[in-house]
Amino acid sequence: MPGHVRLVSLGSVSVGYVKISVLSGGVGGARFLRGLRHHLREARPDGVGGTTAEITAVVNTGDDMWLSSLRVAPDLDSIMYTLAGANDEVRGWGRVGETERVSAELTAYGVGWPWFTLGDLDLGTHIARSHFLRSGLTLTEATARITARWDLGVTLLPMTDDEVETQVITDEGSMHFQEWWTRHRAALPARRFVQQNVTTANPAPGVLDAIGGADIIVIAPSNPVVSIGTIVGIPGIRAALVEASAPIVGVSPIIKGAVVRGMADACLTAIGVATSAEAVALHYGSRSAGGLLDAWLVDETDADSVAALEPAGIAALAVPLWMRDVESSARLAADTLRAADPLWAAEGV
Ligand code: GDP
Ligand code: CA
Repeated sequence: MPGHVRLVSLGSVSVGYVKISVLSGGVGGARFLRGLRHHLREARPDGVGGTTAEITAVVNTGDDMWLSSLRVAPDLDSIMYTLAGANDEVRGWGRVGETERVSAELTAYGVGWPWFTLGDLDLGTHIARSHFLRSGLTLTEATARITARWDLGVTLLPMTDDEVETQVITDEGSMHFQEWWTRHRAALPARRFVQQNVTTANPAPGVLDAIGGADIIVIAPSNPVVSIGTIVGIPGIRAALVEASAPIVGVSPIIKGAVVRGMADACLTAIGVATSAEAVALHYGSRSAGGLLDAWLVDETDADSVAALEPAGIAALAVPLWMRDVESSARLAADTLRAADPLWAAEGV
């Protein structure tokens, strides 16, 4: 276990170089990452105590698809736009100041999905990504080229360079996750989720190093089934997490028995997990029992589950989990790092 880092509320800065790796889906992960970056910039600007932090996000690509000949990567783009400050805060997704003229033309030609509108600015990203992929770059390389345009302060790594797409099995047949999510608003009961090609997929370059070389690993408040579940479904990633020397802290995407944004409850129901912070923690499992978590953050309103999770080997902490703005997200990030601190201490670091 690397011994050069101690994170004591990050107010008392020690000398070191902190590597924080975050497993992330789209919107929930993006908000968390923005808060984490803000917290680290505020708490320890470069040079203070000689400490700098490196944040790497390992991002779900199971929602990606080819649409109108373009490769669309919703979770990578949600994070990129949010960290770039180019996201639409009011709508909650996509680019700010967006227009939809190109999509209207495509619909008139009968191209694409009429219920899945891609904004004009957003299409620029997809065209650039598709250009890089068709030029022979991997998704990791294409993502590096695309994100280089912005000052993100976070390295985005797709979970895999292979095309692993989540299909939803319903009574009306199987469909791409985006069709189920956006067209059917997750209202069509999902029987199963199938990650196509997952068994032959490889973690993208850098992903296993980001996990094995991290000082702290965070499981963002992202969809446990189709964001985090897909990432850990890539062969090798779960094992790397179980064996990682860094503490793993998860943040619940569920508050008081409900999802905060989106429809993740429909996904949990499909895999037989209750929509509660406690049930999701038990679903991830304690690392001491071969699972993913050392610690788990629940909302203050779910404080009851703290005692319930202890016997399962998960150190839970009840703190405000609503990421209303950058400041509240940064406080949550600080609490997440604080939760990791006793785990280091427990190991005698
Ligand atoms: P998606 O890929 O865009 O669906 O986004 P993610 O998978 O990253 O995250 C979706 C999850 O984020 C949902 O289950 C929400 O409940 C959760 N979420 C969204 N906003 C918040 C928030 O403010 N606090 C917490 N704790 N969870 C949130
Ligand atoms: Ca997603």
